[in-house]
Amino acid sequence: MPDARPTTDTLPRHTPERSCVACRRKRPQVEFVRVTKQEGVWAVQLGKRSGRGAYVCSDSPACWQDKKLRRAFGAQAVQVAAQLLERQAPAS
Ligand SMILES: [Zn+2]
Repeated sequence: MPDARPTTDTLPRHTPERSCVACRRKRPQVEFVRVTKQEGVWAVQLGKRSGRGAYVCSDSPACWQDKKLRRAFGAQAVQVAAQLLERQAPAS
């Protein structure tokens, strides 16, 4: 029997959806890294939620390039990109 692969169109209605600031893809919020602006500084936020938020795919290195983030974070895109990459650094 045909089993349709799940797409973003078939997500449960109550799943909060956000768009990635780099690729504009819509995904459930849990698949994003949240970046918040506090006192004028954008920083990757892994715990509490506060301030103005932006979302970047948590599993897509293509979305962590400062070139792609510049639209959302301007001159701070380089710092945000570095933080996103650091996140993925293997813990040893
Ligand atoms: Zn993305």
